[in-house]
Amino acid sequence: PPLLDMRQVTVDYQSRRGTVPAVRGVDLTVDAGQTLGLAGESGCGKSTLAMSVLRLLPRSAHLGGDILLDGENVREMSWGRLRAVRWASASVVFQGAMHALNPVRPIGEQIAEPLRLHRATTTPAAVRTRVNELLDQVELPVARSTAYPHELSGGQRQRVMIAMALACSPRLIIADEPTTALDVIVQAQVLDLLSRLVTERQLGLLMISHDLSVLAACCQRLAVMYQGRIVEEGPSTDVVRTP
Ligand code: ADP
Ligand code: ADP
Repeated sequence: PPLLDMRQVTVDYQSRRGTVPAVRGVDLTVDAGQTLGLAGESGCGKSTLAMSVLRLLPRSAHLGGDILLDGENVREMSWGRLRAVRWASASVVFQGAMHALNPVRPIGEQIAEPLRLHRATTTPAAVRTRVNELLDQVELPVARSTAYPHELSGGQRQRVMIAMALACSPRLIIADEPTTALDVIVQAQVLDLLSRLVTERQLGLLMISHDLSVLAACCQRLAVMYQGRIVEEGPSTDVVRTP
């Protein structure tokens, strides 16, 4: 089966203003070794879709449809099963790493968090070794593991998030605006890193951005979202060419 197979996925938020339909009947698949780009203007439902895959949605959200992770329906998983697949089968790299990282914990400890949750690595020495390996993979100096998020650049913080996402070796990565806050050169470096991981490890990557040109540069396939729906999907060259 594909790593990710979304079928007729809907998400509604209940708010004081009533029901907000954020995602409406979305079908998407991501295969191993493939990057699918998801584009669309702000507010069209991209982040909601990203959060729905691992059911990281707020309580006010209602999820419908089917989300198959490697053939297993996320909507039918118990909380225990969900805990087991988060970080281990799939990880989400959220936008604005400053927001997602804990400001008062050294980055090495944060990268180790998924390992501890999954008891994947048992001894403190083994955790340290794995964290160093991950820092190396995202091209951060090992000596930086004791640094705090505010001591790093935006691009370095984004690399920390990627290291954390990779910690338990999931086969699927969902990257929600991973380069939005970065300048063009650093943006290209982070995209290059993600693309390299996809080819070298046959990961599946769902790459989300409001910027079609960013996606066109690194995705074989593109889907365009508008008001909660996928309005276009196909090889990047075709989608970008359409007026
Ligand atoms: P995008 O990531 O494309 O900017 P979002 O998924 O953040 O879009 O938002 C999709 C829609 O859902 C928007 O109309 C937004 O206002 C609404 N929305 C997002 N989060 C909530 C929430 N917690 N409660 C109510 N509405 C929300
Ligand atoms: P908590 O406060 O319980 O950690 P969260 O909403 O932050 O609540 O996370 C819920 C669960 O999802 C936790 O088990 C957490 O480890 C996992 N999780 C959080 N963020 C991610 C992510 N980006 N990718 C994969 N799993 C995540």
